[in-house]
Amino acid sequence: MANQFDVVVIGAGPAGYVCAIRAAQLGLKTACIEKWSDDQGKARLGGTCLNVGCIPSKALLDSSYKFAEARDSFVKHGIKHSGVEIDVPTMQTRKDSIVKQLTTGVAGLFKANGVTLLEGTGKLLAGKQVELTKADGSVEMVTAQNVVLASGSRPIEIPPTPLTDGLIVDSTGALEFQEVPSRLGVIGAGVIGLELGSVWGRLGAEVVVLEALDAFLPTADQQIAKETLKIFQKQRLDIRLGARVTGSEVKDKEVEVIYQDAKGDEQKLTFDKLIVAVGRRPNTENLMAPDAGINLDERGFIVVDDCCLTDVPGVYAVGDVVRGPMLAHKGSEEGIMVAEIIAGQKARMNYDLIPSVIYTHPEVAWVGKSEEAVKASGVQYKVGTFPFAASGRALAADDTHGMVKVIADQATDRILGVHVVGPSAADIVQQGVVAMEFAASSEDLALTIFSHPTLSEALHEAVLAVDGHAIHIANRKRR
Ligand code: FAD
Ligand code: AMP
Repeated sequence: MANQFDVVVIGAGPAGYVCAIRAAQLGLKTACIEKWSDDQGKARLGGTCLNVGCIPSKALLDSSYKFAEARDSFVKHGIKHSGVEIDVPTMQTRKDSIVKQLTTGVAGLFKANGVTLLEGTGKLLAGKQVELTKADGSVEMVTAQNVVLASGSRPIEIPPTPLTDGLIVDSTGALEFQEVPSRLGVIGAGVIGLELGSVWGRLGAEVVVLEALDAFLPTADQQIAKETLKIFQKQRLDIRLGARVTGSEVKDKEVEVIYQDAKGDEQKLTFDKLIVAVGRRPNTENLMAPDAGINLDERGFIVVDDCCLTDVPGVYAVGDVVRGPMLAHKGSEEGIMVAEIIAGQKARMNYDLIPSVIYTHPEVAWVGKSEEAVKASGVQYKVGTFPFAASGRALAADDTHGMVKVIADQATDRILGVHVVGPSAADIVQQGVVAMEFAASSEDLALTIFSHPTLSEALHEAVLAVDGHAIHIANRKRR
Protein backbone atom coordinates (compact mmCIF):
# COMPACT_ATOMS: atom_id res chain seq x y z
CA MET A 1 0.00 0.00 0.00
CA ALA A 2 1.24 3.50 -0.83
CA ASN A 3 0.96 4.76 2.75
CA GLN A 4 2.51 1.73 4.44
CA PHE A 5 6.17 1.93 5.41
CA ASP A 6 8.79 -0.01 7.34
CA VAL A 7 9.91 3.24 8.97
CA VAL A 8 8.18 6.61 9.33
CA VAL A 9 10.29 9.40 10.78
CA ILE A 10 8.53 12.52 12.09
CA GLY A 11 10.85 15.53 11.69
CA ALA A 12 13.58 16.19 9.12
CA GLY A 13 16.21 17.79 11.37
CA PRO A 14 19.71 16.28 11.69
CA ALA A 15 18.33 13.48 13.88
CA GLY A 16 15.37 12.65 11.65
CA TYR A 17 16.78 13.11 8.15
CA VAL A 18 19.94 11.16 8.97
CA CYS A 19 17.83 8.36 10.45
CA ALA A 20 15.63 8.26 7.34
CA ILE A 21 18.61 8.14 4.96
CA ARG A 22 20.32 5.35 6.94
CA ALA A 23 17.09 3.34 7.14
CA ALA A 24 16.62 3.62 3.37
CA GLN A 25 20.26 2.63 2.80
CA LEU A 26 19.53 -0.52 4.77
CA GLY A 27 16.71 -1.44 2.40
CA LEU A 28 13.81 -0.30 4.60
CA LYS A 29 10.84 1.41 2.94
CA THR A 30 11.12 4.80 4.62
CA ALA A 31 9.14 8.03 4.81
CA CYS A 32 10.06 11.27 6.57
CA ILE A 33 7.37 13.77 7.55
CA GLU A 34 8.27 17.48 7.78
CA LYS A 35 5.91 20.35 8.51
CA TRP A 36 8.25 23.32 8.01
CA SER A 37 7.74 25.06 4.67
CA ASP A 38 9.03 28.19 2.93
CA ASP A 39 7.07 31.16 1.51
CA GLN A 40 6.21 29.13 -1.58
CA GLY A 41 4.93 26.25 0.54
CA LYS A 42 7.94 24.02 -0.26
CA ALA A 43 9.25 21.81 2.57
CA ARG A 44 12.24 23.20 4.45
CA LEU A 45 14.38 20.24 5.41
CA GLY A 46 17.29 20.12 7.87
CA GLY A 47 15.42 21.32 10.96
CA THR A 48 16.84 23.83 13.41
CA CYS A 49 20.43 22.88 12.56
CA LEU A 50 20.41 23.79 8.88
CA ASN A 51 17.77 26.53 8.94
CA VAL A 52 18.18 28.53 12.15
CA GLY A 53 20.93 26.84 14.18
CA CYS A 54 24.38 25.38 13.60
CA ILE A 55 24.85 26.40 9.97
CA PRO A 56 23.54 30.01 9.83
CA SER A 57 25.23 30.80 13.16
CA LYS A 58 28.55 29.48 11.87
CA ALA A 59 28.16 31.43 8.63
CA LEU A 60 27.75 34.64 10.66
CA LEU A 61 30.56 33.66 13.06
CA ASP A 62 32.92 33.12 10.13
CA SER A 63 31.92 36.38 8.39
CA SER A 64 32.21 38.43 11.57
CA TYR A 65 35.56 36.83 12.43
CA LYS A 66 36.98 37.73 9.02
CA PHE A 67 35.75 41.28 9.52
CA ALA A 68 37.29 41.56 12.99
CA GLU A 69 40.59 40.13 11.74
CA ALA A 70 40.71 42.57 8.86
CA ARG A 71 39.90 45.48 11.18
CA ASP A 72 42.10 44.50 14.15
CA SER A 73 44.87 42.18 13.00
CA PHE A 74 45.79 42.62 9.35
CA VAL A 75 47.96 45.60 10.04
CA LYS A 76 50.20 43.47 12.32
CA HIS A 77 50.86 41.19 9.37
CA GLY A 78 51.87 44.16 7.25
CA ILE A 79 48.58 44.20 5.37
CA LYS A 80 47.50 47.78 4.93
CA HIS A 81 44.00 48.88 4.05
CA SER A 82 42.19 52.14 4.17
CA GLY A 83 39.35 51.12 6.48
CA VAL A 84 37.10 48.08 6.62
CA GLU A 85 33.33 48.24 6.58
CA ILE A 86 30.71 45.63 7.23
CA ASP A 87 27.79 45.30 4.83
CA VAL A 88 25.30 43.38 6.99
CA PRO A 89 22.68 42.70 4.26
CA THR A 90 25.38 41.08 2.07
CA MET A 91 26.59 39.03 5.03
CA GLN A 92 23.00 37.87 5.61
CA THR A 93 22.42 37.05 1.94
CA ARG A 94 25.56 34.88 1.93
CA LYS A 95 24.31 33.07 5.05
CA ASP A 96 20.87 32.54 3.50
CA SER A 97 22.35 31.08 0.32
CA ILE A 98 24.41 28.56 2.35
CA VAL A 99 21.26 27.54 4.22
CA LYS A 100 19.37 27.14 0.94
CA GLN A 101 22.14 25.07 -0.60
CA LEU A 102 22.23 22.68 2.34
CA THR A 103 18.49 22.35 2.88
CA THR A 104 17.84 21.62 -0.79
CA GLY A 105 20.79 19.22 -0.56
CA VAL A 106 18.82 17.16 1.98
CA ALA A 107 15.93 16.92 -0.49
CA GLY A 108 18.43 15.64 -3.08
CA LEU A 109 19.77 13.06 -0.60
CA PHE A 110 16.23 11.86 0.10
CA LYS A 111 15.70 11.34 -3.62
CA ALA A 112 19.05 9.61 -4.11
CA ASN A 113 18.39 7.22 -1.23
CA GLY A 114 14.72 6.59 -1.97
CA VAL A 115 13.27 8.28 1.13
CA THR A 116 9.66 9.39 0.60
CA LEU A 117 9.13 12.94 1.83
CA LEU A 118 5.66 13.54 3.23
CA GLU A 119 4.95 17.25 3.66
CA GLY A 120 2.75 18.10 6.61
CA THR A 121 2.41 17.62 10.37
CA GLY A 122 2.77 14.14 11.79
CA LYS A 123 1.03 12.82 14.88
CA LEU A 124 1.52 9.40 16.39
CA LEU A 125 -1.70 7.56 17.19
CA ALA A 126 -2.13 4.26 19.02
CA GLY A 127 -0.99 1.17 17.12
CA LYS A 128 1.86 2.89 15.25
CA GLN A 129 -0.59 4.75 13.01
CA VAL A 130 0.61 8.20 11.99
CA GLU A 131 -1.84 10.95 11.13
CA LEU A 132 -0.51 13.31 8.45
CA THR A 133 -2.15 16.75 8.29
CA LYS A 134 -1.22 18.62 5.11
CA ALA A 135 -0.99 22.38 4.66
CA ASP A 136 -4.43 22.46 3.00
CA GLY A 137 -5.94 20.83 6.10
CA SER A 138 -6.51 17.42 4.53
CA VAL A 139 -5.65 14.40 6.66
CA GLU A 140 -4.14 11.07 5.62
CA MET A 141 -3.25 8.00 7.62
CA VAL A 142 0.19 6.45 7.30
CA THR A 143 1.03 3.11 8.85
CA ALA A 144 4.47 1.93 9.84
CA GLN A 145 6.22 -1.06 11.35
CA ASN A 146 8.43 1.44 13.17
CA VAL A 147 8.00 5.13 13.98
CA VAL A 148 10.85 7.48 14.89
CA LEU A 149 9.92 10.72 16.67
CA ALA A 150 12.47 13.43 15.81
CA SER A 151 10.51 16.64 16.36
CA GLY A 152 13.41 18.59 17.89
CA SER A 153 13.20 21.62 20.14
CA ARG A 154 12.46 25.33 20.19
CA PRO A 155 13.77 28.32 22.19
CA ILE A 156 12.49 28.81 25.73
CA GLU A 157 10.73 32.11 26.38
CA ILE A 158 10.74 33.65 29.85
CA PRO A 159 7.99 35.86 31.31
CA PRO A 160 10.28 38.84 32.15
CA THR A 161 11.21 39.32 28.48
CA PRO A 162 8.33 38.46 26.10
CA LEU A 163 9.54 38.49 22.49
CA THR A 164 8.68 41.57 20.45
CA ASP A 165 9.06 41.99 16.73
CA GLY A 166 12.74 42.62 16.08
CA LEU A 167 13.59 44.15 19.48
CA ILE A 168 13.49 41.31 21.99
CA VAL A 169 14.35 38.24 19.96
CA ASP A 170 15.26 34.57 20.37
CA SER A 171 18.20 32.90 18.63
CA THR A 172 16.28 32.80 15.33
CA GLY A 173 15.67 36.57 15.40
CA ALA A 174 19.31 37.19 16.36
CA LEU A 175 20.41 35.54 13.10
CA GLU A 176 18.35 38.04 11.11
CA PHE A 177 19.49 41.51 12.28
CA GLN A 178 19.95 43.73 9.23
CA GLU A 179 22.17 46.22 11.04
CA VAL A 180 24.59 46.08 13.95
CA PRO A 181 22.89 47.15 17.19
CA SER A 182 24.94 49.69 19.18
CA ARG A 183 23.99 48.18 22.53
CA LEU A 184 23.15 44.48 22.58
CA GLY A 185 21.90 42.57 25.61
CA VAL A 186 22.10 38.79 25.75
CA ILE A 187 20.28 36.78 28.43
CA GLY A 188 22.10 33.52 29.07
CA ALA A 189 25.82 32.76 28.86
CA GLY A 190 25.27 29.32 27.32
CA VAL A 191 26.67 28.21 23.98
CA ILE A 192 24.06 30.05 21.89
CA GLY A 193 24.27 33.31 23.87
CA LEU A 194 28.07 33.36 23.67
CA GLU A 195 28.17 32.59 19.95
CA LEU A 196 25.55 35.15 18.97
CA GLY A 197 27.00 37.74 21.36
CA SER A 198 30.38 37.19 19.68
CA VAL A 199 28.96 37.68 16.17
CA TRP A 200 27.46 41.10 16.90
CA GLY A 201 30.25 42.10 19.31
CA ARG A 202 32.87 41.55 16.61
CA LEU A 203 30.87 43.72 14.24
CA GLY A 204 30.92 46.58 16.73
CA ALA A 205 28.03 46.11 19.17
CA GLU A 206 28.66 46.78 22.83
CA VAL A 207 27.58 43.44 24.29
CA VAL A 208 26.44 42.69 27.84
CA VAL A 209 25.69 39.06 28.69
CA LEU A 210 23.48 38.55 31.74
CA GLU A 211 23.77 35.09 33.30
CA ALA A 212 21.73 34.03 36.33
CA LEU A 213 24.23 31.43 37.53
CA ASP A 214 27.33 32.40 39.53
CA ALA A 215 29.43 29.86 37.64
CA PHE A 216 30.58 30.35 34.06
CA LEU A 217 30.14 27.31 31.76
CA PRO A 218 29.30 25.04 34.70
CA THR A 219 29.45 21.82 32.66
CA ALA A 220 32.94 22.57 31.30
CA ASP A 221 36.20 21.83 33.11
CA GLN A 222 36.47 24.78 35.48
CA GLN A 223 40.14 25.55 34.72
CA ILE A 224 39.20 25.89 31.06
CA ALA A 225 36.04 27.85 31.94
CA LYS A 226 38.07 30.34 34.01
CA GLU A 227 40.63 30.75 31.24
CA THR A 228 37.79 31.26 28.72
CA LEU A 229 36.12 33.92 30.84
CA LYS A 230 39.42 35.81 31.13
CA ILE A 231 39.89 35.74 27.35
CA PHE A 232 36.32 36.87 26.65
CA GLN A 233 36.65 39.72 29.13
CA LYS A 234 39.81 40.86 27.32
CA GLN A 235 37.70 40.91 24.15
CA ARG A 236 35.37 43.35 25.95
CA LEU A 237 32.51 40.84 26.11
CA ASP A 238 30.88 42.09 29.33
CA ILE A 239 29.72 38.86 30.99
CA ARG A 240 27.86 39.47 34.27
CA LEU A 241 27.44 36.36 36.38
CA GLY A 242 24.82 36.05 39.12
CA ALA A 243 22.64 38.45 37.08
CA ARG A 244 19.04 37.21 36.97
CA VAL A 245 16.77 39.10 34.59
CA THR A 246 13.45 39.86 36.31
CA GLY A 247 11.74 42.27 33.95
CA SER A 248 11.88 44.44 30.84
CA GLU A 249 10.16 47.43 29.38
CA VAL A 250 10.02 48.31 25.71
CA LYS A 251 10.41 52.06 25.21
CA ASP A 252 10.08 53.20 21.62
CA LYS A 253 13.07 51.57 19.87
CA GLU A 254 14.90 50.53 23.05
CA VAL A 255 14.43 47.92 25.70
CA GLU A 256 15.16 48.46 29.37
CA VAL A 257 16.14 45.30 31.19
CA ILE A 258 15.85 44.91 34.93
CA TYR A 259 18.04 42.35 36.66
CA GLN A 260 19.15 41.38 40.12
CA ASP A 261 22.93 41.42 40.39
CA ALA A 262 25.13 39.00 42.32
CA LYS A 263 24.71 41.09 45.50
CA GLY A 264 20.92 41.01 45.19
CA ASP A 265 20.64 44.67 44.13
CA GLU A 266 18.31 45.67 41.31
CA GLN A 267 20.04 47.01 38.19
CA LYS A 268 18.78 48.45 34.92
CA LEU A 269 20.37 48.48 31.47
CA THR A 270 19.09 49.82 28.18
CA PHE A 271 19.71 48.04 24.88
CA ASP A 272 18.86 48.51 21.21
CA LYS A 273 18.32 44.76 20.86
CA LEU A 274 17.93 41.96 23.38
CA ILE A 275 18.60 38.29 22.64
CA VAL A 276 16.91 35.76 24.91
CA ALA A 277 19.13 32.66 24.89
CA VAL A 278 18.05 30.81 28.02
CA GLY A 279 17.85 27.31 26.57
CA ARG A 280 15.53 25.17 24.46
CA ARG A 281 12.57 22.93 25.17
CA PRO A 282 11.52 19.71 23.41
CA ASN A 283 8.68 19.80 20.82
CA THR A 284 6.08 17.31 22.01
CA GLU A 285 2.80 19.28 21.76
CA ASN A 286 0.34 17.46 19.48
CA LEU A 287 3.10 15.03 18.52
CA MET A 288 1.28 12.00 19.91
CA ALA A 289 -2.24 11.10 20.96
CA PRO A 290 -2.74 10.57 24.71
CA ASP A 291 -3.39 6.85 24.12
CA ALA A 292 -0.26 6.41 21.95
CA GLY A 293 1.57 5.12 25.04
CA ILE A 294 4.54 7.53 24.95
CA ASN A 295 5.70 8.92 28.29
CA LEU A 296 7.51 12.17 29.05
CA ASP A 297 9.99 12.77 31.88
CA GLU A 298 9.65 15.60 34.43
CA ARG A 299 11.41 18.02 32.04
CA GLY A 300 9.13 17.22 29.11
CA PHE A 301 11.53 14.98 27.14
CA ILE A 302 10.27 11.71 25.63
CA VAL A 303 11.37 8.82 27.84
CA VAL A 304 13.70 6.42 25.99
CA ASP A 305 16.23 3.74 26.87
CA ASP A 306 19.89 3.63 25.77
CA CYS A 307 18.73 2.47 22.31
CA CYS A 308 16.27 5.40 21.99
CA LEU A 309 13.30 3.01 22.28
CA THR A 310 10.24 4.64 23.89
CA ASP A 311 7.81 2.77 26.14
CA VAL A 312 6.04 1.48 22.98
CA PRO A 313 7.74 -1.35 21.07
CA GLY A 314 8.64 -0.17 17.56
CA VAL A 315 8.45 3.53 18.46
CA TYR A 316 11.76 5.34 18.91
CA ALA A 317 12.69 8.96 19.63
CA VAL A 318 15.95 10.72 18.78
CA GLY A 319 17.65 14.13 18.95
CA ASP A 320 16.64 17.17 20.97
CA VAL A 321 13.31 15.64 21.92
CA VAL A 322 15.06 13.11 24.20
CA ARG A 323 17.50 13.37 27.11
CA GLY A 324 21.14 14.30 26.63
CA PRO A 325 22.91 17.31 25.15
CA MET A 326 20.97 19.24 22.52
CA LEU A 327 23.54 18.84 19.76
CA ALA A 328 23.13 18.03 16.09
CA HIS A 329 25.84 15.32 16.10
CA LYS A 330 24.28 13.60 19.11
CA GLY A 331 20.90 13.44 17.33
CA SER A 332 22.42 12.25 14.05
CA GLU A 333 24.29 9.42 15.80
CA GLU A 334 21.08 8.42 17.55
CA GLY A 335 19.30 8.47 14.18
CA ILE A 336 21.89 6.12 12.66
CA MET A 337 21.80 3.83 15.70
CA VAL A 338 18.01 3.54 15.58
CA ALA A 339 17.92 2.85 11.81
CA GLU A 340 20.49 0.08 12.27
CA ILE A 341 18.63 -1.42 15.25
CA ILE A 342 15.39 -1.45 13.22
CA ALA A 343 17.30 -3.23 10.42
CA GLY A 344 18.30 -5.90 12.93
CA GLN A 345 21.84 -4.77 13.67
CA LYS A 346 23.37 -4.58 17.14
CA ALA A 347 24.13 -0.85 17.00
CA ARG A 348 24.98 1.15 20.13
CA MET A 349 26.37 4.65 20.60
CA ASN A 350 28.89 5.84 23.13
CA TYR A 351 27.11 8.54 25.12
CA ASP A 352 30.30 9.16 27.16
CA LEU A 353 32.13 10.54 24.13
CA ILE A 354 29.86 13.25 22.72
CA PRO A 355 32.09 16.28 22.12
CA SER A 356 30.92 19.80 23.03
CA VAL A 357 32.04 22.90 21.15
CA ILE A 358 31.49 26.63 21.52
CA TYR A 359 32.42 28.25 18.20
CA THR A 360 33.61 31.57 19.59
CA HIS A 361 37.15 32.76 19.01
CA PRO A 362 39.03 31.19 20.56
CA GLU A 363 36.88 28.09 20.41
CA VAL A 364 36.11 26.09 23.52
CA ALA A 365 35.73 22.33 23.17
CA TRP A 366 35.86 19.25 25.31
CA VAL A 367 35.14 15.55 25.48
CA GLY A 368 35.00 13.12 28.38
CA LYS A 369 35.17 14.05 32.01
CA SER A 370 36.14 17.41 33.53
CA GLU A 371 38.69 17.45 36.35
CA GLU A 372 35.81 18.15 38.79
CA ALA A 373 33.90 15.09 37.56
CA VAL A 374 36.97 12.84 37.75
CA LYS A 375 37.74 14.08 41.27
CA ALA A 376 34.12 13.45 42.33
CA SER A 377 34.29 9.89 40.95
CA GLY A 378 37.18 9.16 43.33
CA VAL A 379 39.51 7.97 40.54
CA GLN A 380 43.18 8.95 40.99
CA TYR A 381 44.24 10.97 37.99
CA LYS A 382 47.04 12.96 36.39
CA VAL A 383 46.82 16.12 34.30
CA GLY A 384 48.91 17.58 31.50
CA THR A 385 48.44 21.08 30.14
CA PHE A 386 50.05 23.08 27.36
CA PRO A 387 49.50 26.77 26.61
CA PHE A 388 49.10 27.96 23.01
CA ALA A 389 51.48 30.79 23.91
CA ALA A 390 54.24 28.15 23.62
CA SER A 391 53.05 26.79 20.26
CA GLY A 392 55.11 27.88 17.26
CA ARG A 393 52.12 27.59 14.94
CA ALA A 394 49.87 29.62 17.26
CA LEU A 395 52.55 32.32 17.36
CA ALA A 396 52.88 32.26 13.57
CA ALA A 397 49.13 32.75 13.33
CA ASP A 398 49.13 35.40 16.08
CA ASP A 399 46.52 33.28 17.88
CA THR A 400 48.08 32.36 21.21
CA HIS A 401 45.26 32.54 23.75
CA GLY A 402 44.23 29.41 25.59
CA MET A 403 45.48 25.96 26.43
CA VAL A 404 45.04 22.21 26.01
CA LYS A 405 44.35 20.05 29.07
CA VAL A 406 44.43 16.26 29.13
CA ILE A 407 43.30 14.20 32.10
CA ALA A 408 44.38 10.55 32.38
CA ASP A 409 43.77 7.75 34.86
CA GLN A 410 46.72 7.57 37.27
CA ALA A 411 46.66 3.77 37.39
CA THR A 412 45.84 2.78 33.80
CA ASP A 413 46.95 5.93 31.94
CA ARG A 414 43.67 5.81 29.94
CA ILE A 415 42.61 9.26 28.75
CA LEU A 416 39.55 10.44 30.67
CA GLY A 417 39.07 13.92 29.22
CA VAL A 418 40.44 16.39 26.68
CA HIS A 419 39.60 20.07 27.21
CA VAL A 420 40.68 22.94 25.01
CA VAL A 421 40.21 26.66 24.79
CA GLY A 422 42.16 28.04 21.87
CA PRO A 423 42.45 28.20 18.10
CA SER A 424 40.91 25.17 16.34
CA ALA A 425 39.84 23.71 19.69
CA ALA A 426 37.04 21.73 18.03
CA ASP A 427 39.41 19.96 15.65
CA ILE A 428 41.97 19.30 18.38
CA VAL A 429 39.33 17.81 20.68
CA GLN A 430 38.10 15.66 17.80
CA GLN A 431 41.50 13.95 17.84
CA GLY A 432 40.90 13.27 21.53
CA VAL A 433 37.47 11.80 20.68
CA VAL A 434 39.05 9.38 18.20
CA ALA A 435 41.78 8.43 20.67
CA MET A 436 39.28 7.91 23.50
CA GLU A 437 36.95 5.89 21.25
CA PHE A 438 39.86 3.47 20.86
CA ALA A 439 40.48 3.56 24.64
CA ALA A 440 43.86 5.24 24.13
CA SER A 441 46.26 5.89 26.98
CA SER A 442 48.08 9.20 27.19
CA GLU A 443 51.19 7.24 26.20
CA ASP A 444 49.46 6.09 22.98
CA LEU A 445 49.01 9.72 21.98
CA ALA A 446 52.48 10.63 23.24
CA LEU A 447 53.93 7.99 20.89
CA THR A 448 51.91 9.32 17.95
CA ILE A 449 53.72 11.55 15.47
CA PHE A 450 52.17 15.00 15.04
CA SER A 451 53.03 17.15 12.01
CA HIS A 452 55.09 20.23 12.69
CA PRO A 453 54.12 23.00 12.87
CA THR A 454 50.45 22.43 13.71
CA LEU A 455 48.11 23.60 16.45
CA SER A 456 47.55 19.89 17.17
CA GLU A 457 51.08 19.73 18.54
CA ALA A 458 49.64 21.44 21.61
CA LEU A 459 47.66 18.24 22.23
CA HIS A 460 50.84 16.19 21.82
CA GLU A 461 52.67 18.40 24.30
CA ALA A 462 49.75 18.19 26.77
CA VAL A 463 49.83 14.37 26.71
CA LEU A 464 53.60 14.47 27.15
CA ALA A 465 53.02 16.79 30.11
CA VAL A 466 50.70 14.20 31.68
CA ASP A 467 53.82 12.23 32.57
CA GLY A 468 56.00 15.27 33.09
CA HIS A 469 57.98 15.23 29.87
CA ALA A 470 56.59 17.98 27.67
CA ILE A 471 59.40 19.36 25.52
CA HIS A 472 58.41 22.94 24.83
CA ILE A 473 57.48 24.04 28.37
CA ALA A 474 59.09 23.52 31.73
CA ASN A 475 57.39 20.54 33.36
CA ARG A 476 55.98 20.72 36.85
CA LYS A 477 58.29 19.01 39.31
CA ARG A 478 56.95 15.58 40.25
CA ARG A 479 57.23 14.27 43.78
P1 FAD B 1 15.45 19.92 14.91
O1 FAD B 1 16.68 20.31 14.20
O2 FAD B 1 14.79 20.89 15.79
O3 FAD B 1 14.44 19.36 13.82
C1 FAD B 1 13.17 18.92 14.12
C2 FAD B 1 12.32 19.01 12.86
O4 FAD B 1 11.08 18.38 13.11
C3 FAD B 1 11.99 20.44 12.43
O5 FAD B 1 12.29 20.59 11.09
C4 FAD B 1 10.49 20.57 12.71
O6 FAD B 1 9.83 21.44 11.79
C5 FAD B 1 10.03 19.13 12.52
N1 FAD B 1 8.80 18.79 13.23
C6 FAD B 1 8.53 19.00 14.56
N2 FAD B 1 7.32 18.49 14.87
C7 FAD B 1 6.83 17.95 13.72
C8 FAD B 1 5.62 17.27 13.40
N3 FAD B 1 4.69 17.02 14.32
N4 FAD B 1 5.44 16.87 12.13
C9 FAD B 1 6.37 17.11 11.18
N5 FAD B 1 7.54 17.74 11.42
C10 FAD B 1 7.76 18.14 12.68
N6 FAD B 1 24.29 21.92 17.59
C11 FAD B 1 25.51 21.49 17.27
O7 FAD B 1 25.78 20.29 17.36
N7 FAD B 1 26.48 22.37 16.84
C12 FAD B 1 26.25 23.69 16.73
O8 FAD B 1 27.13 24.45 16.33
C13 FAD B 1 24.96 24.18 17.04
N8 FAD B 1 24.68 25.49 16.92
C14 FAD B 1 23.41 25.93 17.19
C15 FAD B 1 23.15 27.28 17.04
C16 FAD B 1 21.89 27.77 17.29
C17 FAD B 1 21.61 29.24 17.12
C18 FAD B 1 20.84 26.87 17.68
C19 FAD B 1 19.45 27.36 17.94
C20 FAD B 1 21.10 25.51 17.84
C21 FAD B 1 22.40 25.03 17.59
N9 FAD B 1 22.71 23.68 17.74
C22 FAD B 1 23.97 23.24 17.47
C23 FAD B 1 21.71 22.69 18.18
C24 FAD B 1 21.15 21.89 17.00
O9 FAD B 1 20.62 22.78 16.05
C25 FAD B 1 20.08 20.93 17.49
O10 FAD B 1 20.63 20.11 18.51
C26 FAD B 1 19.60 20.03 16.36
O11 FAD B 1 19.06 20.79 15.31
C27 FAD B 1 18.54 19.06 16.88
O12 FAD B 1 18.20 18.20 15.85
P2 FAD B 1 16.79 17.47 15.83
O13 FAD B 1 16.74 16.75 14.52
O14 FAD B 1 16.59 16.71 17.07
O15 FAD B 1 15.69 18.62 15.85
P1 AMP C 1 21.94 27.05 27.69
O1 AMP C 1 20.78 26.25 28.23
O2 AMP C 1 23.26 26.37 27.76
O3 AMP C 1 21.65 27.62 26.33
O4 AMP C 1 22.10 28.31 28.66
C1 AMP C 1 21.05 29.18 29.01
C2 AMP C 1 21.51 30.01 30.20
O5 AMP C 1 20.53 31.01 30.48
C3 AMP C 1 21.67 29.20 31.48
O6 AMP C 1 23.01 29.29 31.89
C4 AMP C 1 20.71 29.86 32.46
O7 AMP C 1 21.27 29.95 33.77
C5 AMP C 1 20.53 31.26 31.87
N1 AMP C 1 19.28 31.91 32.31
C6 AMP C 1 18.04 31.35 32.37
N2 AMP C 1 17.10 32.26 32.82
C7 AMP C 1 17.78 33.43 33.06
C8 AMP C 1 17.41 34.74 33.53
N3 AMP C 1 16.14 35.07 33.86
N4 AMP C 1 18.38 35.69 33.64
C9 AMP C 1 19.66 35.41 33.30
N5 AMP C 1 20.07 34.19 32.86
C10 AMP C 1 19.16 33.20 32.73
